[in-house]
Amino acid sequence: MNLFCKKNIDLHVHTNFSDGTFTPEEVVAYAIKSKLSAIAITDHDCIDGIVPCELAAQNTDLEIISGVELSAEINDFEIHIVGLLIDYKQDWFINKLKEIRLARLERMKKMIEKINQLGIDIKLEEVKVLCKDDGAIGRLHLARALFNKGITSSLREAFDRFIGANGPCYVKRFILSPKEVIEMIRNLNGIPVFAHPGNMRHDEAIPELISYGLMALEAFHTDHNQRKSQHYTSLAKKYNLLLSGGSDCHGDGKGFPLMGRVKVPYKILEKMRKTKNIEF
Ligand code: AMP
Ligand code: MN
Ligand code: MN
Ligand code: MN
Repeated sequence: MNLFCKKNIDLHVHTNFSDGTFTPEEVVAYAIKSKLSAIAITDHDCIDGIVPCELAAQNTDLEIISGVELSAEINDFEIHIVGLLIDYKQDWFINKLKEIRLARLERMKKMIEKINQLGIDIKLEEVKVLCKDDGAIGRLHLARALFNKGITSSLREAFDRFIGANGPCYVKRFILSPKEVIEMIRNLNGIPVFAHPGNMRHDEAIPELISYGLMALEAFHTDHNQRKSQHYTSLAKKYNLLLSGGSDCHGDGKGFPLMGRVKVPYKILEKMRKTKNIEF
């Protein structure tokens, strides 16, 4: 594949409808500035940022691809599945996401309670103001609130000291099975992608995910070095899966905007669309 082809895309981007800091207008402006031809809006458990991005991209050459990032638990570990090219305007899906986001809010209350029990003063309202109403509230918002208050000197420290998966204030959230997540995306005529598999470190789960209908591996990702990208490119070949790639940009949420920093050729999107036309 010619990685130097002119048209580049980014198939993993967050807005402030989940834990990104960019509004849809800022996402679109940054994508255009980065000379991207297409971006997928893949907020955690929320599709409400897609239409505003489409509106912001009207009368520009930027294509907006519908997407979502869902979490699942497999043998006690968490994995993320990105759904791309989804027909998302379906009541059952919108209601399901609402339910998941409500569970996120309840889980946030529990994490805050645990932090308070350590003698640290932080209130739900101080976290909620960092997230859109009805958006997907999560640990990155809580980390930002702790940092803003000077309780930690970085976001990373918030994860290391309090809310990382092994931290004292971490609370698991309501989570679906990979079968449910993958079937949901297939029911939306979308392409289920195993997101940042290099971070997940559970390659052995791939055959099981394929048995549920997994269609792609996110071989190209900010956290993948060249060796990892090559590794997942060959695994995709071995299992006859599509390739995907994106920056996982969270606006300034992870320090600085990552959009466009992972080079993903437009061909990857064309191949997905072709496969979708054949399969669905
Ligand atoms: P949640 O979905 O609420 O469990 O939060 C997970 C999100 O927090 C991920 O999508 C990342 O954006 C962010 N995150 C997780 N671990 C870290 C970390 N160690 N440092 C910075 N951000 C993290
Ligand atoms: Mn995130
Ligand atoms: Mn993820
Ligand atoms: Mn993500």
